[in-house]
Amino acid sequence: MRTFTGIAASPGIAIGRAILLRAGAYPVERQEIQPGQEEAELARFTATLAVTREELSRLYETARRRVGEAEAGIFEAHRLMVEDPEVLKAVTRRIREERLAAEYAMSEVMEGQARALEALPGEYLRERAQDVRDVKERLLSHLICPAEEPLPVGSGPMGGPVGEPVGGKPGMDAVDFPPILVAAEVKPSDVLPAGIGALGGLAVGRGGRASHAAILAAALGIPAVVGLGMFAEEVSPGALMVVDGMSGVVVLDPDAGTLASYQEKAAAHRAKARELATLAKLPAVTRDGNRITLKANLSNPAEVDAALAAGAEGVGLFRTEFLFMDRPAPPSEEEQFQTYRRVAEAMAGRMVYIRTADIGGDKPLPYLDLPPEDNPFLGLRGLRLSLARPDMFKAQLRAILQAAAHGNLAIMLPMVTEVGEVRAAKVEVDAARRELLSEGRTVPPVPVGIMVEVPAAALAADQLAAEVDFFSIGTNDLTQYTLAVDRGNEAVARLYRSDHPAVLTLITSVVRVGAERGIPVSVCGEMAGAPELAATLVRLGVRELSMSPGRLNLVKQAILTLEV
Ligand code: PEP
Ligand code: MG
Repeated sequence: MRTFTGIAASPGIAIGRAILLRAGAYPVERQEIQPGQEEAELARFTATLAVTREELSRLYETARRRVGEAEAGIFEAHRLMVEDPEVLKAVTRRIREERLAAEYAMSEVMEGQARALEALPGEYLRERAQDVRDVKERLLSHLICPAEEPLPVGSGPMGGPVGEPVGGKPGMDAVDFPPILVAAEVKPSDVLPAGIGALGGLAVGRGGRASHAAILAAALGIPAVVGLGMFAEEVSPGALMVVDGMSGVVVLDPDAGTLASYQEKAAAHRAKARELATLAKLPAVTRDGNRITLKANLSNPAEVDAALAAGAEGVGLFRTEFLFMDRPAPPSEEEQFQTYRRVAEAMAGRMVYIRTADIGGDKPLPYLDLPPEDNPFLGLRGLRLSLARPDMFKAQLRAILQAAAHGNLAIMLPMVTEVGEVRAAKVEVDAARRELLSEGRTVPPVPVGIMVEVPAAALAADQLAAEVDFFSIGTNDLTQYTLAVDRGNEAVARLYRSDHPAVLTLITSVVRVGAERGIPVSVCGEMAGAPELAATLVRLGVRELSMSPGRLNLVKQAILTLEV
């Protein structure tokens, strides 16, 4: 048994088996088969293709139901790769003519495909090489450890298969123990497809609490520990492990006593969650009578139900950029319209802040083919990118304006630095509105607000107030930019404090400007979802907080006992 300490990134306790998100998790040696074994080997390979195809279809269906068509598309693409007749032909030839074992023949063929894609120009194709390798690992895992029963959906890398169990204990299997994704580094786009299946937890080498992958894990209710350094190197596929997303501890190969104590902790955590759920219908009021509005941060319409069940009074941040990821081109205006409309309708008149795509920083989009930046967090990110890509921005604005007819929507602009950018964005909003009206469509009035997440915006809040309908303080970035501490770098995580006096001074000043100018001020960074920090915000005068749905009642519990 070994214990590792990282950064607690998403609460809950996961006890499960490791699956590794890294190339070569299933090493393959060249292996030849006996003469006369060719047809049996081929049958073994085609049976694996069938199992994998079925698994990918199930993953696609689950993904489509839980997070939507766009995110599910990755599994459909992978299924098509499994069905590629060229792969079958090439592997068949190598098994029959060269008498190679299926594992080696298939690995060679798919690796060849991946290398060919990598040699082509464009980042999108290079990323597809990674998809080919994901499919290869999935096929390999089925070849190496064929399951009698179908494997649980979403139980492996990118929702893929479970690795060969190592250090297993009698009576314990992948069904008793959900898969825990172990990786040196994850992008938000890795967590999305992995998170929609039965993923139990996440243990990652890199990243801080406010990295987007961690935020997404919290949104999906997956216990996570990040900033574990070289941990992934120590783990074998299938190893039993515990992820404690409250204390930031990960235990590898726990002994029986440790396992039992974590099982108790997990049960206590579930009991606490049930107790908190009873608060969902109560209004959040401090003991001295301050009414606090609690809203949800979402990145997908499929999360609306969980938000409403937890008592969300609106959506204080809908992160649209996740719609733009894991695909070869941006979503069409129609697809965006349908997505925003679903959220607007489901929230039934409650206010929804739709944030225009916050692309860039740690959320690059390969298909934009932008030149690499030395400092992406200080580069073409958020509104800066939208203004540089007017066509993409126009489609998004048209989609939001049309969806506004189906509920109560507002436009929120990310990464605002100066007044000129807001004015330029409003010109685009007006142009989109005029276009729609000239096409005979109805467009209700839609408020336009900004994220205050760059220190310059907080310091110039007075000027910005003249241009906007609301402020939402993004403390994740405000903290990173004020303190010059990368939000995703575990090496400086100790310095990343949203309650640093400098950050609190900026928040106080924005709240003051909001009060003076009659502009609503909310906070939608992770700070709002941490009970003690939320209490600090309320003491500073913030009356609206937006957070992952899973945190709403935890924060409400703190507010109910708070005296300002
Ligand atoms: C923030 O910066 O606080 C925020 C809410 O936006 P994001 O985390 O998506 O950058
Ligand atoms: Mg931000």
